[in-house]
Formats: sequence, structure tokens, C-alpha cells
Amino acid sequence: MDYPDRFDVIVIGGGHAGTEAALASARMGCQTLLLTHNIETLGQMSCNPAIGGIGKSHLVKEIDALGGAMALATDRGGIQFRVLNSRKGPAVRATRAQADRVRYKAAIRSILENQPGLTIFQQAAGDLIVDNETVRGVVTETGIRFHAETVVLCTGTFLGGVMHIGLDQSRGGRAGDPPSNALAQRLRALPFNVARLKTGTPPRLDAKSVDFSVLAEQPGDTPTPVMSYMGTRDMHPRQVSCHIAHTNERTHEIIFANLDRSPMYSGTIESIGPRYCPSIEDKVHRFADKTSHQVFIEPEGLDTHELYPNGISTSLPFDVQLEVVRSIKGLENAHITRPGYAIEYDFFDPRDLRHSLETKFIHNLFFAGQINGTTGYEEAGAQGLLAGLNAARRAQGKESWSPRRDEAYLGVLVDDLITLGTQEPYRMFTSRAEYRLLLREDNADLRLTEIGRELGLVDDTRWAAFSEKRETIERESARLKASWVQPGSPAGQAIEDKTGKPLAREYSLMDLLKRPELVYDDVADLIGEAVTDPAVAEQVQIQAKYQGYIDRQQDEIDKLKRHEATPLPESLDYDRVEGLSHEIRQKLKAARPETLAQAGRISGVTPAAISILLIHLKKRR
Ligand code: FAD
Repeated sequence: MDYPDRFDVIVIGGGHAGTEAALASARMGCQTLLLTHNIETLGQMSCNPAIGGIGKSHLVKEIDALGGAMALATDRGGIQFRVLNSRKGPAVRATRAQADRVRYKAAIRSILENQPGLTIFQQAAGDLIVDNETVRGVVTETGIRFHAETVVLCTGTFLGGVMHIGLDQSRGGRAGDPPSNALAQRLRALPFNVARLKTGTPPRLDAKSVDFSVLAEQPGDTPTPVMSYMGTRDMHPRQVSCHIAHTNERTHEIIFANLDRSPMYSGTIESIGPRYCPSIEDKVHRFADKTSHQVFIEPEGLDTHELYPNGISTSLPFDVQLEVVRSIKGLENAHITRPGYAIEYDFFDPRDLRHSLETKFIHNLFFAGQINGTTGYEEAGAQGLLAGLNAARRAQGKESWSPRRDEAYLGVLVDDLITLGTQEPYRMFTSRAEYRLLLREDNADLRLTEIGRELGLVDDTRWAAFSEKRETIERESARLKASWVQPGSPAGQAIEDKTGKPLAREYSLMDLLKRPELVYDDVADLIGEAVTDPAVAEQVQIQAKYQGYIDRQQDEIDKLKRHEATPLPESLDYDRVEGLSHEIRQKLKAARPETLAQAGRISGVTPAAISILLIHLKKRR
């Protein structure tokens, strides 16, 4: 049958990409249909229930700055929050939250159900209606035909999904869910370049069978960080600790002895998995000299005893999984509630996409999430938001929008994918962003919320809160610049006491804040009144302290453009170039480019790596 209502935008798949896509489209005023296998799995985390981390929190905050749901759902579902790299510079600081998977999912579902203009329907999409190289709608596996101007495909790991536990295989999109085979076949008949990737997940454990007394406890940070710019600590449920365990030589022996029963080492799985989330068998094999690896024992939620042992993702047979787990101190009597497994799935070469995430071959069809070769909820959510917004703009007859590399990690992500493609699951890192001093997690709202408002993604409440914050930052910075501290005055004396050095002349509070030994709280209320909002104080402080670095980064980038013809000597030993990632080093060693420009065109070699090479060449001279 033909469904009687026509939609502007149809989104297929209610995972992390699909939910952000559907919300973005509906926020922009488009009648939007979210078509998904199962309403109960909207926003489900297939793997670790954690959001954020290095490079990823930047994406989460950008989604948030553009009005998306991921950060708010994290604040409603997060049970342990930490700021990683808190002692390093603000560009690489990253908020990470362990979430209660049930609460997170409930928060996403509630945001979806309360979004005006968004209709949810539970069915599997089995076919696309394509006419004259333009998508016109979707047909479900039971034959219901939905018509729309544009379609966004966000089917994750489900297309042709095959799961592996040891040498046993079964078909599925993830454990407990069916694969999307009809749709996978239909897409393979269209002119897309399809390949296979794989990913994996660890066995889950019953906390009642774990001896926590011998594990190191890892509590969250105090005060508890928040993820969303609209988030507050009051939104958080009860906070709990994670724990740390370690593999040992016995664990590694068990794995080595059973490698022939691993689908990856026996040749059953040939597709490539995520380099930065390797399976334990991969880690033990690749880093054979290491006698121990960390395993983070993370709770799956507040109302369950299930634990996620982060670090032992595996597709070894179940009997070996049990032996591996029980060889670890504290887990000697552990009961596995769900076996670990690997999954292989179809993905599409992202070089076949435009910056808007529209496919080049079928008009009005957009792809987002894991089907574009990425891994991770955050990468998926960010692409979903962009695809949803551009599908909506197309339906409204407007030009597409995509952020530049110097505006957002989302810009880096999309640009990397569509220009370089990927041979392995793509994960975001701060090192992929050459403009990372500009693209911090603390300023995603200042970079993007105004654009989001113009695009129609940001509601009145968020806009009012953002505008007030931005004005307060400007006012406070102006006040610090205009407030002068004289040597010998009470304010001057306070600074001298703090630093142990006399003031040589008069300084503005802003000049004093630029000093490495002083922070906002040391100077702000010496003259006048300090602001009470910690987010404003943090921003004023970061802008004061890092402006010099930021300006220098801009110069570096301009210089880089002029140095593209610089030759890379044949004798260059990439192992001695400090700061290059293992991945990039391998690629450069294999390709041996002749110039910096050639190096920059190798898939996965980032502009940040080019900058490192340039510095290394200067040092060699
Ligand atoms: P998904 O979250 O997979 O969502 C896809 C959605 O589409 C689902 O709701 C599904 O029901 C729906 N759907 C699919 N086909 C159809 C259809 N035909 N009709 C209607 N609905 C459909 N990420 C990491 O960062 N690190 C890891 O270590 C990691 N390990 C993983 C291990 C496993 C076993 C799996 C399955 C995933 C793992 N991930 C990992 C990846 C992470 O789960 C994904 O990156 C993320 O979920 C991708 O989001 P998505 O929205 O693209 O797809």
C-alpha cells in the first residue's frame, strides 16, 4: 500500500546517526519520518555504553551546539563523568561519560517522541523507490510505500551483517537484532562502491561474580563535569565508580594457544577492524612484548549487574573467552552474561559522497554513520545531524551547508571521509584536526550555535542561554582589559603575595591573567566583581591564555600552504619523526612520498602530520 501522508524527509535507522538526522530535519520544520526496525532499540548503544573521550567529545559538543540530542541524553544517562587530559592544554581536553544504557536510550526516545514534526514507524526498510537516478521514497519489507523528497540512510552495522564467535557464524545486525539483507542487496544493485569492515565487542560480566576488592577503583571527577551546554549536574543520575583490572602472561598464553580458533587469524574474517579498538587477540599478537594490558571494568547501568570489560573485545570461541576472563585477577570466578563477538558488515566508499553527505549517484539520497566507514556513536551522530539538516534543506529547495575544517571537527570528519576515503573504521582524534587549537570542546557553542540558529536548528531556549553566555564573556573580557592594577595598591599587593614577585609597572587584570602562574579566580575580583558562571570564567581564561598560541597556529597553517613543494629526502627515517601516529608512520613508510604535497594526499595522512614533518625537516637542516 501507499502510505497516505507524504513526508519531506525519511530517515532509515534509529541508531545514533538516524536519531540526530531525524531530529535535525524536524527541528528545521520538515515533516520527517523515522523508519526503524524496532522502537525499543532507538538510541541503543551496540557496544560500550560510553559517550565522549578524546576527539569524540568535541563532536558531541558540536552536535549539542547545533541543537542535537546526544549530549543532553548523556547528561540524563551518565553515571560516571571524567575530563580526560585535564592537565594538558584545552585543545586536547575531552569529557567522557560512562552511561546507563537504559537511561540513555530512554532519554533519546523521549527527545524523539516530543519533537514536533517527527513521526516514528517500526518496520524494516527493504527497498528504495528510485526513479531517474533520484530517490522518491522507501518500501518496507512488508510492502508499505512511503514517499518523500529526500531519504537519509543510517543503517549502521546491519547491511549484510555477519557475526562471528570463534568459527561459528550467524547473520545479524548486532547481537539480538536481524541483519538488513534485502536492503543490502538492493544497494549493491545501485552504482555504489561497497566493501566490508568489521568490529567487535567484549563478553559482558555479572558484577556479582567479580572480586572488586582486588581491583583499582576509578571514581568520576569532582565536581562532576556536564556534557551539554544546556546540561546541569541535577540532570545526572546517581554517580558510580569504574574499576581497573589487568591481563597477565597467563591470559596472553591462553590467547596465543588458541589463535587458530580465532576467525581473524584463521582467515574466516578478512575485513579490517578498528585500529584503535583492537580485539584482545590482536593486541596480544601485535604487541607480543607486552606482558599486561589494562581492562576497564565499567558498569552498564544503575539497575543491572552487567559489566562491560573495556579492553578485551574478542571473537575467540566462548570456552576460550571464559578462560581468558578467568585468568584475570579479580575475575577468577566471573560469569559471562553475553559472549563477545565480531561483526562484518557492508559499508560504502565515502568518496562517493558530497560534502552535504548526499550520494553522487542517486540524487536526494544521503548516507550517514557507520555505513560511511566510520566507527563510534559520536562520529555517527555528527554525520547524522549534517545529513538530516542537508536532506531538510534540499526538501526546502535550499543550498546545502557543511562546516569547514577550521570551523568544526564535523568539518574535518566529513572532509577526511569524502576526500580520502577509508580502508579501516575511521575514528576521530584531535590529531586529525590541523586547526585543533581553534576547535576546542569548550568553545563548540561559540563556533557553531549562531550558525545553527540561522540554519533553524537551535530553539529559543538554547539561543537565549547562548546569547547571554556570549555577551557575559565579552563584557567580562572588556572589564578585565579595562581594570588596572598598580604596584603597591591592595590589588597589586595581593598579586605580589601570590606570585612572590614585585609588580614592575601597572598591569591590566587581563595581562595578569595571561601569566601561566595565575588563574581567573586569582585576579578577577581584585578590582570589581568576578562572574559566577564557571563556563564564562573558563572561556575568558582560555581566550586570555591561549590567544598567542592560536595566532601562531594560524601563521603555521599559512606557512604550510607555502611549503607544499618541499622535498622529502629519500633517506628520511619516519621512525625518528616525533609525534607521528603509528598509523601515519606506516603509511608514509609504505608510500615514501617525494614532497610534502604528495604526503598530504595519502589517505589518512592529516595536515597535522604534515606540519610535524615540516618541523622535523627544519630540525634536520
Ligand atoms: P547503529 O547504531 O548500528 O544503528 C543502526 C540502526 O538502523 C538500528 O537502529 C537498526 O535497527 C536500524 N536499521 C538497520 N537496517 C534497517 C532497515 N533496513 N530498516 C529500518 N531500520 C534499520 N564503536 C566504537 O567506537 N568502538 C567499538 O569498539 C565498537 N564496537 C562495536 C562492536 C559491535 C559488535 C557493534 C555492533 C558496534 C560497535 N561499535 C563500536 C560501533 C558503534 O556501535 C557504531 O559506530 C554506532 O552505533 C553507529 O551508529 P549508526 O547510527 O551508524 O548505526
